[in-house]
Amino acid sequence: MAHQFNYCPHCATPLQLLSQEEDGGPKARLRCPACDWTHWNNPTPVLAAVIEMADRDGQVLLARNAAWPGRRFALITGFMEAGESPEAGITREVMEETALEVTQLKLVGVYDFQRMNQIIIAYHAQAHGEVRLSPELAEYRLFAPQDVRCWRAGTGYALADWLRTRGHEPQFMDLPGRS
Ligand SMILES: [Zn+2]
Repeated sequence: MAHQFNYCPHCATPLQLLSQEEDGGPKARLRCPACDWTHWNNPTPVLAAVIEMADRDGQVLLARNAAWPGRRFALITGFMEAGESPEAGITREVMEETALEVTQLKLVGVYDFQRMNQIIIAYHAQAHGEVRLSPELAEYRLFAPQDVRCWRAGTGYALADWLRTRGHEPQFMDLPGRS
């Protein structure tokens, strides 16, 4: 899924795996031998929301991505856009993907997701309105917080941490497929 860089995005010279001295010692990275451009490959920030439906008894909304196999439900997530704060970004993502209006946001935590080279910034979002899913999402379900099952990956740990703040000991499902 992650695309490999083959050419320098600055001068189009083929990149090479070159070792250079960095602050932490010599490090091999994809670098441009012509203009010195370096492919740092830093993790990408991803925003996530534990959506609590303020007008539906505080139920938690989880949604299933249309592109995923099986019937796994997860948090609403999305990439930050240039020029927006994380709070503005997750408010926008929740609106785009569910049509819900976020009225309150609180940071749950920050989680690494190394398999995808992402860093997840997870919020608890209080939201209200009528749910209308974007085409990216196939279906959604509302859960009472005590009935939610967590998964052992970045956003699943965020959901678990939020449940603990509500006095619920999180229960994990152990699926063969990773999420
Ligand atoms: Zn170059």
